[in-house]
Amino acid sequence: MNVKVVKFGGSSLADANQIKKAAEIIKADSKRRFVVPSAPGKRFSDDIKVTDMLYRCNNLAMENRDINEAFGNIVNRYNGIISDLGIDLSLDEQFEEIKRNIKNKAGNEYAASRGEYLNGIIIAAYLGFEFIDAAEVIEFDSEGGFRLDKTITKLRNRIRNVEAAVIPGFYGATADGVVRTFSRGGSDVTGSIVANAVNAEIYENWTDVSGFLVADPRVVENPEVISVITYKELRELSYMGATVLHEDAIFPVRTAGIPINIRNTNAPEAPGTMIVSDDNDEFGRFTITGIAGKKGFSAINIEKAMMNSELGFCRKVLSVIEDFGVSIEHMPSGIDTLSVICPTSQLDGREDELMARIRRVVAPDHIEIENGIALMAIVGRGMRKTRGTAGRIFSALAHARINVKMIDQGSSELNVIVGIGENDFEEAVRRIYDMFVNSAL
Ligand code: ASP
Repeated sequence: MNVKVVKFGGSSLADANQIKKAAEIIKADSKRRFVVPSAPGKRFSDDIKVTDMLYRCNNLAMENRDINEAFGNIVNRYNGIISDLGIDLSLDEQFEEIKRNIKNKAGNEYAASRGEYLNGIIIAAYLGFEFIDAAEVIEFDSEGGFRLDKTITKLRNRIRNVEAAVIPGFYGATADGVVRTFSRGGSDVTGSIVANAVNAEIYENWTDVSGFLVADPRVVENPEVISVITYKELRELSYMGATVLHEDAIFPVRTAGIPINIRNTNAPEAPGTMIVSDDNDEFGRFTITGIAGKKGFSAINIEKAMMNSELGFCRKVLSVIEDFGVSIEHMPSGIDTLSVICPTSQLDGREDELMARIRRVVAPDHIEIENGIALMAIVGRGMRKTRGTAGRIFSALAHARINVKMIDQGSSELNVIVGIGENDFEEAVRRIYDMFVNSAL
């Protein structure tokens, strides 16, 4: 298909100057016919996103407090953009209506959605594209769940004869017109849905970084950009804490086989990161694709002689943990030992109680809970084809005298998860980065 869907994040549209950059990008390629904008984001680090300003207005209204000043700041922000863009547009009527609705307690989601709605009108006017209100085409059910099939039908009907359009991100409406939003960062999801509906050849997601990075830049100085990543790898890395894209943005394009390209509005010449289907076996520059990780885990370590031959042992332990409402991340085991790794926050100070219950049901020889564990995920489709990857990982950690508490490699050979002490986490990430990236450059 000859269509590209382009989504611009809040920092890419934070002021008129940024909007001009985005417009230049759009106009540089006639295939960029469908534009999904976020609300204006931060212009500088202490700035406030328009979405947050709107949430604040809503909170004031809910407490029956005056919203004039708070809402006036939002009006000023948009009017500043309109005048700096030099377009002939007045949003006074919309401002009046929105202010009235917020005062009348139209609610959180309605208030927040207006950031994208207003920005969409401005950007459509500046580009000379048609404006399509997302409430008309993106459908939610009454519980706030998103309805993909209905939405695709509505969108396809609506755009049938449309040459080029701006469809604001982040919100939609129920069949009876009640405005609902996705969770924060949800314009990514709208972009993905629109890409599916128009059968785009690519979904370009323009943001303020030149793609996904191999490691967290707060840990590794100036990390390399990942040039190609598969959806599965992305899921592994996002789950372990790497964020650029909303998690729900993957599904609509993945099912349609549409690649996502993460690009930088402030460096449009950079190719960014391509997110491609899982069967793509184009080999990346490095054996590993990325490293991510999270702190805040605990290990419940259980020992009992001959536990492997005791029928139902694991099930009994797991059902206690389930009763406590604790989710399980990993479960490495030996002949006489079983460890269950779970988020410390979910134990919620009930460690003694949990251990007592496990003692009662399986009478272990020994049980303890160890806190302060970090999990590091080393992800890469290249690992399957390269021998010695695990060896390199553990020798890098051994050289740094980092004690490995747990190892888990999934059957897909897409990732290796290593459990280490929280204090060792940053150093471990740097060592793995050195081993696989710096040494390959
Ligand atoms: N403006 C919304 C937010 O700040 C949605 C988005 O930007 O994707 O979360």
